[in-house]
Amino acid sequence: MRPLRPHQVRALDLLRHSLGSGNRRPMLAMPTGAGKTLLAAAIVEGALSKRKTVTFCVPALSLVDQTVEAFWAEGIRDVGVIQGKHERTSAFRPVQIASVQTLMRRDIPDSDVVVIDEAHRWFDFYGDWMAKPEWARVPFIGLSATPWTKGLGKFFDDLIVPTTMAELMEAGFLTKFRVFAPSHPDLTGVRTVAGDYHDGDLSEAMDKPKLTADVVETWRRLGEDRQTFVFGVDRAHAKHLQERFLEAGIAAAYVDAFTEMEERNDIRKQFHDGRCKVVCNVGTMTTGVDWDVRCIVLARPTKSEMLYLQIIGRGLRAADGKDDLLIIDHSDTTLNLGFVTDVHHAKLDDGSPRPKRDRVRKTPEPKECGKCSFLKPAKVHQCPSCGFAPVQVSSIACDDGQIDVLSHAKVKAAAEQKRRFYAELTGYAEMHGKSPKWVLANYRAKFDEWPYRREVTPQNPSPETLGWVKSRQIAWAKSRHKSEGAAA
Ligand SMILES: [Zn+2]
Repeated sequence: MRPLRPHQVRALDLLRHSLGSGNRRPMLAMPTGAGKTLLAAAIVEGALSKRKTVTFCVPALSLVDQTVEAFWAEGIRDVGVIQGKHERTSAFRPVQIASVQTLMRRDIPDSDVVVIDEAHRWFDFYGDWMAKPEWARVPFIGLSATPWTKGLGKFFDDLIVPTTMAELMEAGFLTKFRVFAPSHPDLTGVRTVAGDYHDGDLSEAMDKPKLTADVVETWRRLGEDRQTFVFGVDRAHAKHLQERFLEAGIAAAYVDAFTEMEERNDIRKQFHDGRCKVVCNVGTMTTGVDWDVRCIVLARPTKSEMLYLQIIGRGLRAADGKDDLLIIDHSDTTLNLGFVTDVHHAKLDDGSPRPKRDRVRKTPEPKECGKCSFLKPAKVHQCPSCGFAPVQVSSIACDDGQIDVLSHAKVKAAAEQKRRFYAELTGYAEMHGKSPKWVLANYRAKFDEWPYRREVTPQNPSPETLGWVKSRQIAWAKSRHKSEGAAA
C-alpha cells in the first residue's frame, strides 16, 4: 500500500478517536483531490488487520469495478462483489464491495464495519439499515467530498474534516485557480426547485444563440488555448455549445452519461494528445474525474454547493506543467456562492432549520475587476490579473454644478454596490426576523427602484449598511413621534 499523506494520517487518527469515544456513525469529509480512495483502502486494511469484515457500499455500478481496481492496486485482493451477476461474486471474502441497488434487494452480509462511499448520494435504505437494532454497535463510516445532503445529520453522529481545499492547494496536492466572470446571466423568472434552479427554466434562460456564441468568443479571448471542459445546463445546451465551438473551427467534443465507453475513451485520448481542445458536457455526470483539465467554462448557473464543487473539482487535479486552473464563469456562481475554497460547513444538516446566524455568509464574496472581469478575493483592491486599480470617480465639479461621470467600471461598481446592499439587507433581515417586504421597502428607499435580481445569498451587513438601517429606524421613530403631536 502507498504511504499515506499527512492529511490522510490525520483523517485516520481523527476517525479512530471518534470511534474510540463511542461514536458509531462518523462522517469523514475529504475534499476532491484529498485521496479519498487511498484513505478508504487504509480503513479497509486497518479492519482486515484486526480480522474484521467490511461491507463497502457504492452508489453507482461504475464505481464497483473502479473500487475493486483501486483496492487491488493497494494490495487488498481478498475482495468479493455484490452487484448483479458480477464475476467476483464471492460471499466468503472478508471485504464485500456492494452496489447499493443490488444490496437493497438481497440479504445483507454480516460485517464488522460498513463504509458508505459517496455518502452525499443518500438512500433511505441506508437509514433503515442503520436503524436495525442488531447493527447498532457496528460502525458505519460515511465518506464524501461534499456531505451536505439535507438530513444526513439525522443518521451520522460525527463530522470529521481533516483538511480543506485551501490546505491541499497550499501543499500542492490540488492546483490553484483563477476565475474570470465575463458575463452575468439574466435569470429573471427562473424558478427554484428543491434548492437549485429549475432545469427547464434555466435551459431556456441560458440556451440562447447570443449567449452560446459569447461563450465561444470569451473562451478565445481568455481561455489561453487550454484543454477545456465546458459545462452546460442540460444535454441540448451542451450540444449547442459544442456546435458553436465547431463552427468557430475549434476541435470540440460532446460527452454525456450515454456516450459509449469506447467513444469516451477515444475522446479522452484526443483530449490528452491535443487533437480535441474542448469537451462539452453537463455537470451531473461523473466522467472526467481523472482527465487533465486546465480550463473550466461554467455556463450552468447553480445554487447547489455540491454541484459547484463537483464541477470545479474536475479541474483541480495537480499535474505536471500545470500552474493553475482557469475558470471562466458565465453563471455568477462564484459571485453567489464564493470561491470553491470558501465553501465550508461545520455541521451536518439534520433537517432542522439552521440558526439564523449560521445562514449568513461569513466569508466575504469575491469582487469583479472592472477592467478584465477577473474575480478578486474580497478586500483586494488592485487586480492581481491585469493590475487595474479602480479609482473612485464619483463626480466632477464644473460650472453647472456636478456632472456624473459614467464609466464602464463605474456602472459595474454601482451594480455591485446595489447587489451587495441587497444581500446585506437580506442578511440583516434574517438575523432580526424582518420580512422580505421590509428588505424590498428599504432597498427602494435607498435606490428609488426595485432590486433587479431578487435571488441573493444573504451577507453579514457592513457597518455602513447597519448605520443606514439604524438611521432609517431613527427617522421613522421621529416621524411617528411628531405625528403623535409630541414636542420634538
Ligand atoms: Zn483586472
